[in-house]
Amino acid sequence: MALALNDPGLGARVREVFEQGRLLALPTETVYGLAAPIDRPDLIARVFELKGRPADNPLIVHVGTLGQARRVVSEWPEPAERLSRAFWPGPLTLVLPRAACIPDAVTAGLDTVAVRMPDHPAALAVLRALDVPLVAPSANLFTCLSPTSAADVRAVFSADQVEILDGGPCRVGIESTIVGIDSRRRRLLWLRPGMLERAEIVRHLPEGWRLEAPPASEAEGGPRQAPGRMEIHYRPTRPLHVHVCAGRADCDRLAERLRGDGARALVVLPEDANRAGRDLYRLLRQADGENPESIELLLPAERLRQPAWEGVINRLRKAATRWIQVPADGG
Ligand code: AMP
Ligand code: MG
Repeated sequence: MALALNDPGLGARVREVFEQGRLLALPTETVYGLAAPIDRPDLIARVFELKGRPADNPLIVHVGTLGQARRVVSEWPEPAERLSRAFWPGPLTLVLPRAACIPDAVTAGLDTVAVRMPDHPAALAVLRALDVPLVAPSANLFTCLSPTSAADVRAVFSADQVEILDGGPCRVGIESTIVGIDSRRRRLLWLRPGMLERAEIVRHLPEGWRLEAPPASEAEGGPRQAPGRMEIHYRPTRPLHVHVCAGRADCDRLAERLRGDGARALVVLPEDANRAGRDLYRLLRQADGENPESIELLLPAERLRQPAWEGVINRLRKAATRWIQVPADGG
């Protein structure tokens, strides 16, 4: 029987799913997560196994309360307090020194843990009913498109493997913004852009703190491994060509030409960054489903400079098999 959001016994039902050795597809505002309790090493191993995710890629711990968040870390510096109060529940993940209760399998052996409180009523209901944090990486196969609806999850995982809580389509549509908090040097590291802009984060930093690009190597204090920072990720099965058009008219001309080409699928993102984030994976998945020779996505060049677009551009750079600069006047 399907899980229902308004079931007063939701917590007990989810516990049953885990007791059966199955995972839960958890709706969040970013993407659907493949959830397992942090105190169930067998199910955490199953997350890696089902996704085909390498064991050295750490998972994000999802919490339902601030108290839970503070119990999974060993340090709660001022920026954590301020950012969590400003943006949680919401699409922001904080990386902090981990508490002893966090197993190595979750952090891939790192001494830090990534934690987030998702902004979705279903996710919060489950997390608060269970009273144990859940890991919940995207409910897809490693490097593939992330799921933004229950149907996307079911297309990949069977009912024997994964129980789905259908919370409708995801509102944000791409993965969370991730910042690392380095108390010793009073800096935040920009680990993965999402739909929360840098300026919004900076506005909430205490005096004397800075937001920086992460150091390139571990020797300089950089993260050893992070899947969101891999070069190839979020990929459709068909080749994706991103055309960066100098001007709007160039985009229109190219779109006109591509529309007449039945072998290629055309994707034009919404004008608004938030809508583009929300629709990105859905549109790519839809285009992929037409099984075209290739997917052609048009992007006005001005987007590359707009802070609101940083998260979407980051995903496109990893998803694209080719990145094409279309010269002004023609293409
Ligand atoms: P996802 O695949 O969306 O669950 O994302 C996991 C992301 O969390 C990766 O992109 C990592 O960058 C990040 N992450 C998780 N744990 C850590 C950590 N301890 N240090 C740095 N990044 C982390
Ligand atoms: Mg993922």
